[in-house]
Amino acid sequence: MAQIKKLLIANRGEIALRIHRACHEMGIQTVAVHSTADADAMHVRLADQAICIGPPPAGESYLNIPNIISAAEVSGADAIHPGYGFLSENAKFAEIVELHNLMFVGPKPEHIRTMGDKVEAKRTAGALGLPLVPGSDGAVSDLAEAKAIAARVGYPVIIKAASGGGGRGMKVCESEDQLETLMAQAGSEAKAAFGDATVYIEKYLGNPRHIEFQVFGDGNGNAIHLGERDCSLQRRHQKVLEEAPSPALGAEDRARMGAICAKAMADMGYRGAGTIEFLWEDGEFYFIEMNTRLQVEHPVTEMITGVDLVREQIRIAEGHPLSVRQEDLVFHGHAIECRINAEDARTFAPSPGKVTYYHAPGGMHVRVDSGLYAGYRIPPYYDSMIAKLIVYGRTREGCLMRLRRALEEFVIDGVKTTIPLHQALLNDPDFQRGDYTIKWLEEWLAREDAA
Ligand code: ADP
Repeated sequence: MAQIKKLLIANRGEIALRIHRACHEMGIQTVAVHSTADADAMHVRLADQAICIGPPPAGESYLNIPNIISAAEVSGADAIHPGYGFLSENAKFAEIVELHNLMFVGPKPEHIRTMGDKVEAKRTAGALGLPLVPGSDGAVSDLAEAKAIAARVGYPVIIKAASGGGGRGMKVCESEDQLETLMAQAGSEAKAAFGDATVYIEKYLGNPRHIEFQVFGDGNGNAIHLGERDCSLQRRHQKVLEEAPSPALGAEDRARMGAICAKAMADMGYRGAGTIEFLWEDGEFYFIEMNTRLQVEHPVTEMITGVDLVREQIRIAEGHPLSVRQEDLVFHGHAIECRINAEDARTFAPSPGKVTYYHAPGGMHVRVDSGLYAGYRIPPYYDSMIAKLIVYGRTREGCLMRLRRALEEFVIDGVKTTIPLHQALLNDPDFQRGDYTIKWLEEWLAREDAA
């Protein structure tokens, strides 16, 4: 078993801070890397060591593999944690890290590669016994073939990029006469965005929920699941608020689907944290993709299980067995996470700039993951998410009350934020009942705009 003494955090923002915190709680020293735009960031201030790796554009800094590896060598780090986004699902990066005799806090490179190609991922998931969305057996390039598949599964269908991510590169097709145009559009958009024009076809589900399972494997054939998260509240396929457990799922469904996921990961020999994403409609699960990394919304799982997922990732990278057995894992209460973005709550226009005043909520069962502080200047170059507010309650109702109270206390002055959006959501009766699907938020926003 190897012991990590110094870990380089190849990320920025709240997740860099999250990883730093887990490391210090484990007695591990941290190395922050940052662009010139992030010299004043909180994770840079708190880390034991900080190294500038390039100018503001991510391609020249947070995605700059040679500079990150050099920073690890210069600082004497023995491991790298990639966080989420940036290089976290780059199999090549994981390989390079290991070639330099550094530990990669993440899955085996071959699993990152398999799951990163959505066509390959679907094939693998099917072989592992996960239920799939009906659709093409793999990539589709031929129009006649596309027509035959769409006719078989029934319209509407969704054309998706094999290399897609972040909700990009998807086209919904209502009827056969649109298929040729939309296939061509999806292909060229995918080529432009991901450098790969490969597309595949799925049945478009009318009104599903997005429910995902957190899994962990030790890399040696043992795996567990930590229950699900409901991430149906989305705008433009981007998650806005997540909760665990899902208001739609019962204990039996959780145990059944969780066991299928855990078995799939065990059979695969999966190592580390992963998330298996499903659409859920009329009581049925349909696999859409697997993320081979820590997710933004991981804290809601931590709240209801009491397991520190980053600590677990680090322990597994060190070669330890899983720290909990499935039968010892108990789900307690309810947790909700609000993603707070530096954006206008109505138009969603980005609002970077200087935070003039900052006051985070506190009190029992309230957690704020954020690198903000008064005087901090939010740079315009990166994701607009500036804070996550995570709240726990013994019941969903209690959780909602606490969330309302915490949002009231939250003050972020100087920039616009999406706090008012979350407050408005909390007042909606559908949301209060947990009665929503992936379509719901956009329809609600359209109604709000009209009002
Ligand atoms: P990405 O990797 O870009 O996030 P996903 O495959 O995870 O792509 O899909 C993102 C979102 O797109 C889903 O959460 C869902 O809202 C929508 N979506 C994807 N596939 C389908 C489908 N077959 N039917 C309906 N909606 C879908």
